[in-house]
Amino acid sequence: MKTIDKIYIGGEFATPHGTEVMELFNPATSALAARVQLADEVDTQRAIAAATAAYKSWRHTTREQRMDYLQRLHDVVAQHEAEMIATMVEEYGGPLTISTGTTRRAAASFASAKKILANYQFERQAGTAKVVMEPLGVVGLITPWNANYGFICSKLSMALAAGSTVVIKPSELSSAQTELLTRILHQAGLPAGVLNIVTGRGDTVGAEITRHPDIAKISFTGSTAVGKAIARGAVDTMKRVTLELGGKSPTILLDDADFAKAMPLAIAAATMNSGQACLAGTRLLVPQHRLEEAHRLAVEQMEALQVGNPRDAATKIGPMVTQTQWQRVQGYIRKGIEEGATLLTGGAGKPAGLEDGWFVRPTIFGNVRNDMTIAREEIFGPVLSIIPYRDEEDAIAIANDTPYGLHGYVFGGDLARANRVAARIVAGRVFVNGLYDEPEAPFGGFRQSGLGREFGIFGFEQYLEPKALLGYDHPL
Ligand code: NAD
Repeated sequence: MKTIDKIYIGGEFATPHGTEVMELFNPATSALAARVQLADEVDTQRAIAAATAAYKSWRHTTREQRMDYLQRLHDVVAQHEAEMIATMVEEYGGPLTISTGTTRRAAASFASAKKILANYQFERQAGTAKVVMEPLGVVGLITPWNANYGFICSKLSMALAAGSTVVIKPSELSSAQTELLTRILHQAGLPAGVLNIVTGRGDTVGAEITRHPDIAKISFTGSTAVGKAIARGAVDTMKRVTLELGGKSPTILLDDADFAKAMPLAIAAATMNSGQACLAGTRLLVPQHRLEEAHRLAVEQMEALQVGNPRDAATKIGPMVTQTQWQRVQGYIRKGIEEGATLLTGGAGKPAGLEDGWFVRPTIFGNVRNDMTIAREEIFGPVLSIIPYRDEEDAIAIANDTPYGLHGYVFGGDLARANRVAARIVAGRVFVNGLYDEPEAPFGGFRQSGLGREFGIFGFEQYLEPKALLGYDHPL
């Protein structure tokens, strides 16, 4: 059992002023894994003060200096890949493949930010004005538990590249991963106060970051409900906010699609990260006249996925992160049955032989109507709803009939047609005929899936503010 009792302020590891101790359990076995001493508002204020002091000089570092630090951050994270993966598998229960991917993306985000910084034009002309892109100040980064390293490193890399300093509030459920990552990031030798990490509760540390006048911007990834609370709180001090929130993304199988090729990808889209993924394609839209075929293939593919020990390289679906998350998923499975959807595979309870951890039976509901709860709300587990549609117009209407707009997936034989359908999906990203990873492409949502974008140049500019200088070349 681990004891985690350090936070990181002003370049030093410190014991929190907060005294609350939280217990964490291994999700694959439910054994007690760690006791964490949580930070509180006082710790948060200290971290903000350290970041404010450091900003005075960090904002004046040169492009080359910041590129050098980003390279160092990349190198230290890349060097510790094996330890990071093992800790993520252990604490979060993320299957080896997803834990490896998240860890590699975390290191790669520093390289991406360095590349953007190398080429970015901080000054440009707008008519007679010179426009200078300036850093914002101290940025609060608030992250969830489902890809802890990835979220911390991608937000951190962009903020530092832009010339801001940061106070990070990671999910308290990822404390062991954060403790390890903090020790690794410390090795990059950033100036004291540029990076501060305070692990604590959302309603203490997160709320203090939201209301504190010295925080200029918040970049948040998490649930839509908390995102709204942050946006409301942030407006009092007019903080800039980037919100990456939930989703209920549609996957459209067009009637000319080869279902045998598309279905494994559609199931992977629905179950990635054990279903604990904001961009999961959890509503599968299939043509009415091919419904039976779709049901059969979907069940075949879902039942072929290995559920179990996240350390096993063949495992595709690990446990839910906590008992609470497991219970939430169970509630949705029961709700689907109550509302009259057809249970095609899976169901409530745990898979046989996996009673000790927070494992869910991968579940597919057929004959789902888009107004059922399981089609409207984000479940965050391996639960797929198959919804029949009449024709292309109907498919697009169903796809867009959601409060969310994070992602979409389209599979079709005629590529031009698939692209036409993709263009009509109201979402921040749409994948056509595959699953992809492009670090330069913007990521974020329409509607209640969020505000603003991350990644690439679009994400970088969310950490900058334009200042127009007029008459700068005009002697009096
Ligand atoms: P969450 O919203 O409960 O928590 C996210 C973070 O916010 C945590 O660090 C939490 O402690 C903090 N928080 C909680 N209450 C707060 C408050 N009042 N003020 C400030 N901070 C507060 O989300 P979660 O359960 O950790 O993660 C799952 C959710 O995240 C899902 O809804 C998922 O869709 C979303 N998510 C979105 C993306 C995306 O990029 N769009 C990516 C991953 C996860």
